Formats: sequence, C-alpha cells, structure tokens
Amino acid sequence: MSAETFPAIIIDREGDGQKVSFRSIDETALPPGNTLVRVEASTVNYKDGLLLSGAIPLIQSFPMVPGIDLAGIVEWSDHPRWRPGDRVIANGWGLGERHWGGYAGKCRLDGDWLVACPDRFSAKQAMAIGTAGYTAMLCVLALERQGVQPDDGEILVTGASGGVGSIAISLLARRGYRVVAATGRLSEEPYLRHLGAASLIDRAEFAQAGAPLQKERWAGAIDTAGSHMLANICASLRYGGTVAATGIAQGADFPATMYPLALRGITICGVDSVHAAVELRQTTWKALAAELDLGLLKSMTNEIALADVIEVAPTILAGGVRGRIVVEVGT
Ligand code: NDP
Repeated sequence: MSAETFPAIIIDREGDGQKVSFRSIDETALPPGNTLVRVEASTVNYKDGLLLSGAIPLIQSFPMVPGIDLAGIVEWSDHPRWRPGDRVIANGWGLGERHWGGYAGKCRLDGDWLVACPDRFSAKQAMAIGTAGYTAMLCVLALERQGVQPDDGEILVTGASGGVGSIAISLLARRGYRVVAATGRLSEEPYLRHLGAASLIDRAEFAQAGAPLQKERWAGAIDTAGSHMLANICASLRYGGTVAATGIAQGADFPATMYPLALRGITICGVDSVHAAVELRQTTWKALAAELDLGLLKSMTNEIALADVIEVAPTILAGGVRGRIVVEVGT
C-alpha cells in the first residue's frame, strides 16, 4: 500500500540561492523524530517571510519545510508526555531553520518542543496567536518581571500594526496599561484604537539617530524594530524604565549610547521566543488563554490557504501585513 500524501512547501537549494515550491510529499520523506503531528494550521510571521525569501541565510540544511509554528493533533508518539489525539502547538526550536516545520500536512519532531494547546483555543486560534502572540505575552511578562506596573505611565509599542505589536497592544490594554502605538501606518488608527491603543505616534519620530538622552516619557516599551527606534526608546525611557526588545523590523543594529543605562538606570530586556524554556512557554500560553480577547484576535486575523503563503512572504517583509495570518493546512 502506498503512503498517504499531503501538501508541503519545500525550499530547495538552487545555485547560491534557494527555490520555493508547493508539492505533495509523503510520511517517508519526513525527518526522524519521536512524535508525528497531523498539522491543522500554521501562520506567517516576519521570520517566516525571512525564511521563504532567503533575505537572511537562516536555513541550515536543504531541502527544508519552512513554517516556524504549527498546531495539530498527535498521530503517534514515543514521547512520555504525548498520546495519539493530543492537541498540541509548537513554536520555534529551529522549526523551518534546522528542522522541518509547519508548512506541511504532517510534521515529525521532538515531543520536547510541544506544548498542549489550551482548551480555549482551536488550532486556528492558536495559530492566530502563533509565535507573534506568544512573544507579545513573553514581552508583557518581561516588563512586569522588571516591576513595570499599569500606573507607572505610558507604554510604547512599536510595529504596532504587525503581529507582535497588535497582540501586545490588546494584552497590555487588558491589563490596564495606557498604550501608545508607534506605527508607520497612521491610517490604521481605528484598528489600533479598537485593539486598545490610547494614542498613536508616527514611527518616523523614532526612525533617525536622536540625542543620547531625550525627554523622559515611557515607563516601559515593547520594541519590535531594533536599530534607531530601539536607541531612541532607550533615550526616552523614564528613570528606571524597561524596554522589552525582541525584533529587527527596522534593523539588527543598535546605535545607542550608555547614557540611559548609566544615568537613568534603564533596563533593556532581550526577549527570545525560539529557545524559551518549556515551563515559561506553558506559563505564557496559560496567560494567553486566561487573558486574550478572542473577538479582538478574530478582528486582527486573516486566513489563507497553504499554497498562498509563498506570495504573502514578501508582503510581510515589506511591513504590509496588518495583524495576523492563519494558514489552513489540514483538510
Ligand atoms: P510583522 O511584519 O507582523 O510586524 C512588523 C511591523 O513592524 C510592521 O507591521 C510595521 O508596523 C513595523 N515596521 C515595518 N518596517 C519597519 C521599519 N523599517 N521600521 C520600523 N518599523 C517597521 O512582524 P512580527 O510582528 O511577526 O515580528 C516583528 C519583529 O519581531 C520581527 O523583527 C521579528 O523577527 C521579531 N520577532 C522576534 C522574536 C524573537 O523570538 N526574538 C519572536 C517574534 C518576532 P507599522 O506599520 O505599524 O509601523
């Protein structure tokens, strides 16, 4: 009997570059692993755009199935935590870079990388959250670990219309923070206010090199941009403030000075989602299940088919996606 086939996006090496295709594969093609998951849904994050475009050489071996996130059902497992039928999520751990990821009907992987999908979320809702939403909550928890509280003052969120930004705004507003959304798309004001932003600021105000110490404004910030934006945020944090820094949408450089650290005691808190410990992931998904407004999540999400991921990749890298994208993988 021939093995069941399923659709997949595959990235092959081509000369010095790479070639992306959409084709059918079967289970025998999957790399080894102690758990087999039938993928129901995935998503498109900024990093998925990077993997699909090859803009930064992140892929460690070819051929590669990209997709840094997946949600699905365990079909088979040798791992002590998982049984057939369990509803699971995977984010990061090198999926799509070093290990075949979520853009295929099935994924064989290490059961250590899975967390249980909270009962409150369907597979599609879990992927509407995905790495972006889970990272947004990691950032909120990081600010609070540093002692930032709602009555301390305004919190700035950069990349506000993007995935991390949209979910961060809704989570912070729900916790009672006054959120200022920094965006290049001021036309998205109704959307950003609907998510919970109290006011908007043009990201152009942060985009160029600024003075090393500026007027103290932010009690905290969640930054997805890096580069001058992060440097200007540091220069305008209030005394003792914290920025949770997680992204590089403007750039991976960090042209800043020591003055805000040495003279205002600010904290730059790096946030990584890829290798976050399982316990932290469980805490984070539990907090998302307790707090995230599913109506708001729906209002920030669009759904596409697996084959359509290829053409969305350049759009997300160009900052043209609003909110989140769910990819329907299962049939
Ligand atoms: P999105 O593309 O959904 O959002 C990024 C947003 O950044 C855009 O929507 C846009 O928002 C803004 N933006 C675009 N270009 C620029 C620019 N040149 N300067 C400043 N802002 C810009 O991506 P995600 O939300 O998925 O990810 C955001 C960032 O966070 C990425 O760099 C990603 O790699 C990183 N990230 C890191 C993680 C980690 O583990 N460290 C995990 C998840 C994400 P607007 O139009 O509103 O300004």
